[in-house]
Amino acid sequence: MLPYEIPIRLAAFAGVLVLMAAWELLAPRRHQAAERPLRWSSNLGIVVLDTVLVRILVPATGVGIAFLAEARGWGLFHAFAAPAWLAVIVSVIALDLAIYLQHVLFHAVPALWRLHRMHHADLAFDVTTGVRFHPIEILLSMLIKLAVVAALGAPALAVVLFEVVLNATSMFNHGNVRVPERLDRMLRWIVVTPDMHRVHHSVEADLIRSAVARKPSRDVQPASTSGARCPRAPKRSECAGITWVVPPAAAPMDFRSPK
Ligand SMILES: [Zn+2]
Ligand SMILES: [Zn+2]
Repeated sequence: MLPYEIPIRLAAFAGVLVLMAAWELLAPRRHQAAERPLRWSSNLGIVVLDTVLVRILVPATGVGIAFLAEARGWGLFHAFAAPAWLAVIVSVIALDLAIYLQHVLFHAVPALWRLHRMHHADLAFDVTTGVRFHPIEILLSMLIKLAVVAALGAPALAVVLFEVVLNATSMFNHGNVRVPERLDRMLRWIVVTPDMHRVHHSVEADLIRSAVARKPSRDVQPASTSGARCPRAPKRSECAGITWVVPPAAAPMDFRSPK
């Protein structure tokens, strides 16, 4: 598994990138005003920088820690001699939950939000937004994943599977692609679709976040009066509802203007 980790992950990344780019070309969800060559070169440049920095600064990889945990008997699954299939499934779910909680934390803690807003500051929303993350966010994320792998004694297969799925779904749910509404409704049961995640990036979502936190956001101004759907001091559930229950056809199209 170890010698194949990088080729597998690289091939999955390139394959999904090409597929999503072709989909965006054939059936774009929305006209993007920001210049693509400039955005693509900077977003993909950030991926290269992130990858190189993680390799240099973090001496271990997830797969490396998984093998070390197996050799030394570290972690939950080795303590209880869990069957391999169960360890793979639970590890993938646990890693997914950890990264979900990490995302919540990066929005809730002001110092972490300063890093994560680089992802949200993209002037458009497309497949490359899905890999645009601050290098320190990527480093912290790597440390969180390593801690989960060590604590569980996660199998190497689960680590590679999770990294491939995380990367592919991030590129998918940032795609500027039209998904037929019926398909979107079905996909929402198992994966975050672009229209679901687009809400998280919209200026309305920023308004919602600042309203939920009961404090004005210094960085973001609502771009349209449609933000009034979420009143300034709402009950938490009302705004949370708008964030996640918005139907595909009503997904907001207002983003920051590149001007
Ligand atoms: Zn976010
Ligand atoms: Zn995003």
